[in-house]
Amino acid sequence: MSQTIAFIGLGNMGGGMAANLLKNGFAVRAFDLSEEALAKAAEAGAVRCASAAEAVTAADAVVTMLPAGKHVEGVYQGEVFGAAKADALLLDCSTIDVATARRVEEAAVAKGFEMVDAPVSGGIAAANGGTLTFMVGGTEQAFGRARPILSAMGKAVIHAGGAGNGQAAKICNNMLLGATMVATCETFAMAKKLGLDPQTFYDISSVSSGQSWSMTSYCPVPGVGPQSPSDNGYQGGFAVGLMLKDLKLASEAAALVGASVPMGNAAESLYQLLANRGEAGRDFSLMIEMLEGK
Ligand code: NAD
Repeated sequence: MSQTIAFIGLGNMGGGMAANLLKNGFAVRAFDLSEEALAKAAEAGAVRCASAAEAVTAADAVVTMLPAGKHVEGVYQGEVFGAAKADALLLDCSTIDVATARRVEEAAVAKGFEMVDAPVSGGIAAANGGTLTFMVGGTEQAFGRARPILSAMGKAVIHAGGAGNGQAAKICNNMLLGATMVATCETFAMAKKLGLDPQTFYDISSVSSGQSWSMTSYCPVPGVGPQSPSDNGYQGGFAVGLMLKDLKLASEAAALVGASVPMGNAAESLYQLLANRGEAGRDFSLMIEMLEGK
């Protein structure tokens, strides 16, 4: 018999993810505070529920895809723990701070549930296309139960270790991405001022020791490297506001464990400046224009 999943948070990401569960034969009981999000989920074949508690009562597993830690903690403590079936598996796919993820998972285990944190890499297109990468924190047993559910929504499901380690992997990766993007942008801006043609510098650096994903898969200079948001007026892609959110989470995590992250901190300040210029909605490789003084 097919499993029933309660899906809470059917926004930009959750809507596509729930639709992929339905396509792969799962039954979905949906809840979102937004009537519009709920209507879309129902159109895709989900059962509409009037509350998170109603969604989880008849579910074998609960998936949450919510904005931030306070929403996740509120939904689990306020409704899920009290209403879910005793053997329901709990999966939080939101990007949240490591401390909250660990606190919620500890509370779940204390109530007898198995839970994983399973944040994603990949944006709205990957959520719609079922090609997300999931980084999973939790016990081996919980990971084993979560894998078939996550596989229905993604192309890769990787066990990162114990509770909270999925969130740790996600923010470490995105802090590295933020820092390398800033470094790539400032370097191309300087190369140009020194009289180097951007394509010529790309041809040299992309096969030299300065090479990185930010350069060769996502070059911030329009017309250089493979197709990327820079070729489309910095529209689509990964928004400045979401990069800033992840860099703030990285700073919080660094403070929690006493890690020195000067490059991550610098990237956070620069993305804050870019967001303050009213650019939170454009792609994060737009950083090059600010560093060029445009
Ligand atoms: P979103 O704002 O589009 O969706 C969040 C949904 O949660 C909304 O529909 C909102 O109504 C609902 N919600 C909020 N509080 C609720 C509650 N208490 N009960 C029920 N529903 C509630 O956000 P999104 O872009 O889908 O992102 C979701 C998560 O995924 C975030 O943590 C984000 O950082 C992460 N993420 C997003 C992207 C992206 O490209 N958008 C990529 C990777 C990870």
